[in-house]
Amino acid sequence: DFRLDGKVAVVTGSARGIGRAVAERLAAAGAHVVIADLDDAEAAVTSAAIERACGKASAIALDVTDRDEIAEVVERLYAAHGRIDILVNNAGIVRNAPAEEMSLDDWKSVIDIDLGGVFNCSQAFGRRMISDGRGAIVNISSICGEVTVYPQPQVSYNAAKAGVNLLTKSLAVEWAKQGVRVNAVAPGYVGTEMTLKGRSNEEWFGTWMRMTPMGRLGEPREIANAVLFLAADASSYITGTVLTVDGGYTA
Ligand code: NAD
Repeated sequence: DFRLDGKVAVVTGSARGIGRAVAERLAAAGAHVVIADLDDAEAAVTSAAIERACGKASAIALDVTDRDEIAEVVERLYAAHGRIDILVNNAGIVRNAPAEEMSLDDWKSVIDIDLGGVFNCSQAFGRRMISDGRGAIVNISSICGEVTVYPQPQVSYNAAKAGVNLLTKSLAVEWAKQGVRVNAVAPGYVGTEMTLKGRSNEEWFGTWMRMTPMGRLGEPREIANAVLFLAADASSYITGTVLTVDGGYTA
């Protein structure tokens, strides 16, 4: 039930970080993984590394805010593989700034990538999944979709991730009868580039560790294991759920 042999999985923003760990995990479970990232050079490096580790992978340039490009990518991938079974909406950014100082650009870019990107890709791939009568979509949300992570000022990120949680549930109920499951994983603090920028801020880092009962950062592969569960038939009766993986932060 946890095997993905013969399946094709697209992971957005998977050139590095959590997305890369997800791609590695899905490939290890037998899927062909498509590394879809804004940074196509790094995506090619990641894809080659997965292939060297005996997985099946390919890389494609994709900006999750560019609906025309997404439509082209969907066509190209169906032409190449004839099927897409799994979509992991992982691409995301964060912009920390006090609410009263946040620029409209910082507000918009986070909402457009972290929330709009999930809708854009889910709609484009979801249409094909609906006509195939099967598919699993896993959105990478955050604990920030449920609680604030004081003292970090990130109003746009919190709003976007809360949106992802209800977008997940909305798609899940709309597409349940068509055989498409939609779930989310909400990580706590994970040691990636996104987090390590904040790690240089000792006040923030100390607060994260105090607030995390397990007292450590999560590892990307610990998020990837939860994604594999929700992408695989092991979770065949689960849809519209947000699975928190946070070392106890929100408990
Ligand atoms: P990261 O910055 O290490 O990697 C993000 C990847 O997304 C990069 O490869 C980047 O090129 C790509 N990307 C950025 N904008 C894109 C776009 N418009 N189109 C396509 N690709 C794009 O980040 P990460 O820590 O691995 O985060 C991955 C996801 O996990 C994000 O959705 C993030 O919000 C979420 N998350 C991370 C943490 C954490 O602690 N790191 C915690 C909770 C949730």
